[in-house]
Amino acid sequence: MTLQKNSKSIYVTRPLLPSLSKITKRLEAVWKSGQVTNNGDAHKQLKEQLKQYLEVENLSLFANGTMALIAGIKSLNLTGEVITTPFTFPATVEALEWNGLTPVFCDIEPRSLTIDVSKIEALITDKTSAILAVHVFGNPCDVEALDRIAKKHNVKVIYDGAHAFGMYVNGKPIGQYGDMTMFSFHATKLFQTIEGGALTYRSQSTEETLSQIKNFGLNDDGEVVLNGLNGKLNEMQAVVGIETLLLVPEERKKRQQIKEWYEQQLLSVPGIRILTLAEESYSSYQYFAIEIDENIYGMSRDALLEELAKENIFARKYFYPLCSSFRWYRDLLSAKTEQLPYANAAVKRVLVLPFYGDLAQEDIFRICNILKESCHAQVGERL
Ligand SMILES: *Cc1c(COP(=O)(O)O)cnc(C)c1O
Repeated sequence: MTLQKNSKSIYVTRPLLPSLSKITKRLEAVWKSGQVTNNGDAHKQLKEQLKQYLEVENLSLFANGTMALIAGIKSLNLTGEVITTPFTFPATVEALEWNGLTPVFCDIEPRSLTIDVSKIEALITDKTSAILAVHVFGNPCDVEALDRIAKKHNVKVIYDGAHAFGMYVNGKPIGQYGDMTMFSFHATKLFQTIEGGALTYRSQSTEETLSQIKNFGLNDDGEVVLNGLNGKLNEMQAVVGIETLLLVPEERKKRQQIKEWYEQQLLSVPGIRILTLAEESYSSYQYFAIEIDENIYGMSRDALLEELAKENIFARKYFYPLCSSFRWYRDLLSAKTEQLPYANAAVKRVLVLPFYGDLAQEDIFRICNILKESCHAQVGERL
């Protein structure tokens, strides 16, 4: 293997980490109290701070985003079928499976890569109990259309908002839409608690059920009232969250600058389309994603991924593979390739580029130069 001049490895993201001394200072208080999990002081504090930050009235914290989604779906007592998107992280659909629900895959809309609301109603049957939609790369779903469809057919709307922390749609905080929204605080997400997650929800009465689900189904009298699990966010996670939340505004500003540098370099490259659409103050700044149109660009996404890897830049195919291609789903009628043309196109074209606050300007230009040099568009198409 030949080492390049610039051989420092660059990955898609780096966790936003507070200084270790600030963490240990807070942990000293936790140690002194002896309460390291089960709704301790740090957990309570983080919960209140996140309610404020996300501008929601109802929020519950969980050990991770997947557990939050599993518990949230369970709390809604859904049955039968749930309409969802195949272009998502496995956790979205796995949360349905853990609740004994059958996904019905709906194609995506090619511009935002979110669920195509014009195709949902044709998939609704008397078995449908909910729609589970994903704000892909912080591109908001058509939340108003989803509200209308849900009302008309009396089904619930749940959002996987793992990419949507701090986002707004039409001036309204994203966590206020639908019946419920899941946020992930995994180390790869902008706001992180190492592992962690939350649900925001419309109905205050859901809070008690969620507390029971994440604590083995136990109620306040110590009776087991439902089939629960262990989904609690502990005090160490909460402490990391309290300190990380303080860093979020600065991190968003840095990412805004990085997004601009990328855009300046890439907007004019034929065959590259930038996928992160949201306007500045409304963006989640979670990812910087592009789409490669091989016919125009002159190279496939996969070949480009290799070109980048040769220079030790590790971009990612995300989401890959489609959830509809899982062995246990691919024979479903709704999982057939013909039913999902845009999802099947996106899974071959989308590339997530390195995106985090401390990414150096020179590294961004290096990445963009590879993207420009790899473009083999015909000269006539260039301008
Ligand atoms: C990160 C992510 C999840 C999973 O969240 P965890 O906190 O890692 O369990 C779910 N859905 C999407 C879209 C994600 O990006």
